[in-house]
Amino acid sequence: MQITFWGVRALVPSPGQETTVTGGNTLCITVRGVAGETLVVDAGTGITTWGRSILSGDYGRGQGELDLFITHPHYDHIQGFPFFVPAFIPGNTIRLYGSTYCKRTMEQVLESQMNPIFSPIQSLKNLNSNLLFPDVKPGDTLSIGGLAVQLETLPHVTEQAMGVRVREGGKTVVMAPDVNYPEGVVPPEALAFFRDADLLVHDIRSFVPGLERLHSREAFNARDAVAAAAAAHVKKLVLTHFHFDSTDRELEQLRESLGYDHPFEIELAREGSTLWL
Ligand SMILES: [Zn+2]
Repeated sequence: MQITFWGVRALVPSPGQETTVTGGNTLCITVRGVAGETLVVDAGTGITTWGRSILSGDYGRGQGELDLFITHPHYDHIQGFPFFVPAFIPGNTIRLYGSTYCKRTMEQVLESQMNPIFSPIQSLKNLNSNLLFPDVKPGDTLSIGGLAVQLETLPHVTEQAMGVRVREGGKTVVMAPDVNYPEGVVPPEALAFFRDADLLVHDIRSFVPGLERLHSREAFNARDAVAAAAAAHVKKLVLTHFHFDSTDRELEQLRESLGYDHPFEIELAREGSTLWL
């Protein structure tokens, strides 16, 4: 499997000289299997970069198929979708998966994002690809080519987020890009979902800006991520979902502060980088 990070930021994009190393787009991760099957986790602004990069292949000819999982519909996880070029090309098929959120289906949520008050696109109907919204719920397991995909509910700061666990050829990646543990306690369901993963992609930011000092809270979340990875015996932890105010230097300092005395590797996600399992 190839796991590629197209966006690593939380809340809003953060372009500029201080984020050139980690990147400034909001959340988007792709997972590509050995046969070329591709799934996407979240449609932050990073998905627009990925969308442009695939236009020379099947997606540019209207022959592409992809599976897009929305962990939850806060802006930083959906704001790139209205500008994802493959979604405008007739013949492409896009299956969108997401739990009901605040009593609205994912289709209703994305349609409301296109409302002419907020968007020149005006409606999902103006996207010419074939958009499908398969009914999924936490606990479901799907097969996408050779990828086995498991979904689970994970705790989030306002409601809940959907975790995505992907397995192929004996290797497992778990993506939990926006989770929050009340009182710092990782619930047993989350630990079971992360258990023995070769790679855990985990949130380190989930507070409301202004309520707490940035660095103390972000460091706290990073320690939650490290504790979860240790308890679940993962082999590698990649931190993502960085606050838009966090500079490359501050994030590197945060990584240093976590130390190196762990039985697993710890890395910061970097936009444009690919990991192989
Ligand atoms: Zn988020």
